[in-house]
Amino acid sequence: MERIGHFIGGRVVHGGSGREGPVYNPATGEQTHAVAFAGEDEVEAALAAARHALPAWRATSLSRRAEILFRIRETLYAHRQEIAELVTAQHGKVLTDALGEVARGLENVEFACGIPHLLKGDFTEQASTGVDVYSIRQPLGVVAGISPFNFPAMVPMWMFASAIACGNAFILKPSEKDPGASLRIAELLHAAGLPQGVFQVVQGDRQTVDALLGSPWVRAVSFVGSTPVAEAVHESAARAGKRVQALAGAKNHMVVLPDADLDMAADAAVSAAYGSAGERCMAVSVVVAVGAIGDRLVAAIRERIPRVHVGSGFDPAAEMGPLVTREHRDRVAAYLDSGPRQGAELVVDGREHPACQGPGFFLGPSLLDRVTPEMDCYRDEIFGPVLSVVRVETYEDAVSLIGQNRWGNGAAIFTRDGGAARSFQFDVEAGMVGINVPIPVPVGYYSFGGWKSSLFGDTHIYGPESIQFYTRGKVVTSRWPDPATSALDLGFPRTR
Ligand code: NAD
Repeated sequence: MERIGHFIGGRVVHGGSGREGPVYNPATGEQTHAVAFAGEDEVEAALAAARHALPAWRATSLSRRAEILFRIRETLYAHRQEIAELVTAQHGKVLTDALGEVARGLENVEFACGIPHLLKGDFTEQASTGVDVYSIRQPLGVVAGISPFNFPAMVPMWMFASAIACGNAFILKPSEKDPGASLRIAELLHAAGLPQGVFQVVQGDRQTVDALLGSPWVRAVSFVGSTPVAEAVHESAARAGKRVQALAGAKNHMVVLPDADLDMAADAAVSAAYGSAGERCMAVSVVVAVGAIGDRLVAAIRERIPRVHVGSGFDPAAEMGPLVTREHRDRVAAYLDSGPRQGAELVVDGREHPACQGPGFFLGPSLLDRVTPEMDCYRDEIFGPVLSVVRVETYEDAVSLIGQNRWGNGAAIFTRDGGAARSFQFDVEAGMVGINVPIPVPVGYYSFGGWKSSLFGDTHIYGPESIQFYTRGKVVTSRWPDPATSALDLGFPRTR
């Protein structure tokens, strides 16, 4: 069976830890690859290569770094089909969606191409007589990224583009469930002229993450994944004195006001709930139907569900693929038992979908109505094609429901009332808000991040905040006085 290795010191290596994990084709259920798991030795080797690369990379001019980033952008773009096919083969999402993921990821490389502008500091002439003050930002050193299974190409790009542009050496630990895209991206970055050791990949699991977190050479950690792991990684990295941002789980609500365009709202709910089989941290997982629209909205969603074409990600007609593993599919399907047991109404049962007959990890789009906040299907992040509908009386009830939820990643409102939308933008407790936009993932020149248990740490990921995250500030105070004027002065320096 073909083995997926690490990318250390400019080449693919398989390492000698003796540990590995299975990689499946979720559409067929077959194991297609084994992925090597890095132990202490492989992590040490990557850290040594990163430290070796750092002085020269840090000293590389900004125009040269930008030139390399432009080449990386062109190389990844030229290979977008190949990267997307790797994503589809190991994650399962449909190819058009995988191509969309690559395109959204490339936005972050495009942003980083502007690094000479992004690293500009401030300059104050004559802060005191004959004294100038200016600020500069410098890289941190070796930084690590730990990414989830659901965006195997885009989330690494969220991290590494700004990290390397700022002059750091970056080590990625991708999800062990679909590690192929990261390895290919590493080869392409190298082919585009990035010096060896500046971007590396160590494959693995928790032990690999622990080895990275345990190293004093890793100065900062970007993590994206589930809430319990994000919280643990944040705590252990922060305790070790590292800078850390840990983006976590979500429960994204889409509020539909009674005046909303019914068809537009139903189209948006179905697209945002079942796209990528619901395995998006910005997927709509709860529709909040306000007032009288409830019955009509549920009917409109139900009527659309049979039209969603479920199949292999490589089937050009398919709009929704399988889930990533059998275990995850079964965990998601369990909410179709617990929901009704706890009082929800199972309107569409995805387990009855014909795609579930085969060996792939399929679950059809599923709909639960009359869900209430105490139910497990509301309290947990399901991360699959199960949409819950919560019915409330008023706009205030909807905002309060979202405010009480433990997560605050995205939230959307569908309405034709501009005033209500403006209130929602002001009131809602979420880091990313959509107004008639169900999946409000910010463009690459804004930053991405949720509130509450959707983010541990202070800085959002990619965009302007990533430049802050991957650098540290230095302020220089300088003067060039006439030595003839020099004299002793033991007072605390004051501006004059
Ligand atoms: P996960 O937490 O299981 O794994 C994420 C990464 O952490 C992987 O690389 C994994 O190998 C590693 N890991 C797993 N267990 C670990 C442990 N105990 N200690 C250290 N490292 C560990 O998440 P996942 O299932 O791959 O991804 C899905 C989750 O990611 C969902 O909860 C989703 O909401 C979240 N997510 C969040 C965002 C966001 O921006 N907020 C984006 C994408 C995904």
